[in-house]
Amino acid sequence: MAINVIKDKCKGCGICVKACPFSAITMKDKVAEIGSACTACGVCVSKCPFEAIEKTEDEDVVDLSAYKDIWVFAEQRDGKLMNVALELIGEGKRLAKEISDETKLCAVVVGDGVAHLADECYAYGADEVILIQDPLLKNYTTDGYAKVITDAINEFKPEIVLYGATHIGRDLAPRIAARCNTGLTADCTRLDVRVSSYIEYAKKNTTLDTSTLDPNDPSTGIKQTRPAFGGNLMATIICPKTRPQMSTVRPGVMQKREPVEGAKGELVEYKPTIAASDIRTEIVEIVKSTKELVSLTDAEIICSGGRGLGNEDGFKLIKEFADKVGGVVGASRAAVDAGWIDHSHQVGQTGTTVKPKIYFACGISGAIQHLAGMQTSDFIVAINKDADAPIFEVADFGIVGDLYKIVPLIIEMWDDAEALYDASTK
Ligand SMILES: Cc1cc2nc3c(=O)[nH]c(=O)nc-3n(C[C@H](O)[C@H](O)[C@H](O)COP(=O)(O)OP(=O)(O)OC[C@H]3O[C@@H](n4cnc5c(N)ncnc54)[C@H](O)[C@@H]3O)c2cc1C
Ligand code: SF4
Ligand code: SF4
Repeated sequence: MAINVIKDKCKGCGICVKACPFSAITMKDKVAEIGSACTACGVCVSKCPFEAIEKTEDEDVVDLSAYKDIWVFAEQRDGKLMNVALELIGEGKRLAKEISDETKLCAVVVGDGVAHLADECYAYGADEVILIQDPLLKNYTTDGYAKVITDAINEFKPEIVLYGATHIGRDLAPRIAARCNTGLTADCTRLDVRVSSYIEYAKKNTTLDTSTLDPNDPSTGIKQTRPAFGGNLMATIICPKTRPQMSTVRPGVMQKREPVEGAKGELVEYKPTIAASDIRTEIVEIVKSTKELVSLTDAEIICSGGRGLGNEDGFKLIKEFADKVGGVVGASRAAVDAGWIDHSHQVGQTGTTVKPKIYFACGISGAIQHLAGMQTSDFIVAINKDADAPIFEVADFGIVGDLYKIVPLIIEMWDDAEALYDASTK
């Protein structure tokens, strides 16, 4: 978009100078001149009484065909890959195959002394690892990581770049997107490249009218779906004119592949140009929480408690339950907000997304924001004294009753069930 003064038509009246909200217009030789502060808001175009200012669509046309391959930012901390990096490698590989056999999935590993992570990336499906190492990149800094990754993007031109929607990914991705002048969709829960697979997904999960979409459409632009408006609306966002297409993806939503030990790929060592002066933040200290670590994303069984527990002590029962069944304690936001349990246990849209084999929801009503974080669990067991609670709509098994009676009964019967199982498998 550009704003131009048609010199022949300009009468030098100065109306536009006063009208511009950004003081971007000056008079030069009695003709208006548009300066660099112009935001292309268009106000002056309508204000000029002589139609001497025009707005032209002269967007830089990006050569989309120059961009190839899918990149995953393989986030590591202390030399250990984050789970979401492995999930994204799995998802990225799936998308790469949908685009074409030639499309590669590249994991971008940034840090210092992190070369050992390449093998893990290959094992989980990466065709290539782009390794960017420098002592200045040992700890994450927005400036440092944004610089080296942007440089690498400009050099290698990937078609798609995926980041985990972790604190680091959410900080980093918008910086890179702005520097690359491209689009970014945050916190995606579904990605498609084939129109046919998007239609299939939309038909199953949304009320969207897909009749206008052609399942044979060969285009492979990424369709990024994310919950919006507190999870009440699913928005599918595309990035048709710029590259790379970028998304942050919610941890715990995408599927990891089964690792293939010994799998090999191509290693590209990218030497970054970075100096201490490029990094404006100084890391004074890294403090690790001394709180008990809660690994909800990896848990196979989760026992969650909500406001129905009535008080903080209710979590003692939930903990006992979780210990008995080999699970991890989860919670609704209402329980967290009440101060009964730490936020690290929260499941849901503003907590952790989980996908365990069994999810026990005890005294949880099933608000949409809670369901957004657990409804893809393999089995959901709901215990609630209100038979009309929405949680029963997603539950595979529902028990209507007081959790303080039912949970102790389950704990008691678990031993019996285990004994029975042991006997039957002997
Ligand atoms: C932007 C936004 C983001 C949010 N993010 C999240 C999120 O990430 N996670 C989340 O959980 N919530 C989130 N919420 C809050 C969400 O809307 C609900 O308020 C919350 O999930 C309710 O928690 P709850 O089910 O524990 O409480 P309630 O809705 O109060 O439900 C308590 C349930 O316990 C039952 N009950 C009571 N006593 C007993 C008993 N003795 N035995 C059995 N059942 C009993 C009741 O029948 C009731 O169904 C968010 C809200 C907003 C606006
Ligand atoms: S308002 Fe139009 S005619 Fe007047 S100075 Fe601006 S461009 Fe020229
Ligand atoms: S388009 Fe807007 S910002 Fe640019 S010169 Fe006109 S009024 Fe000012």
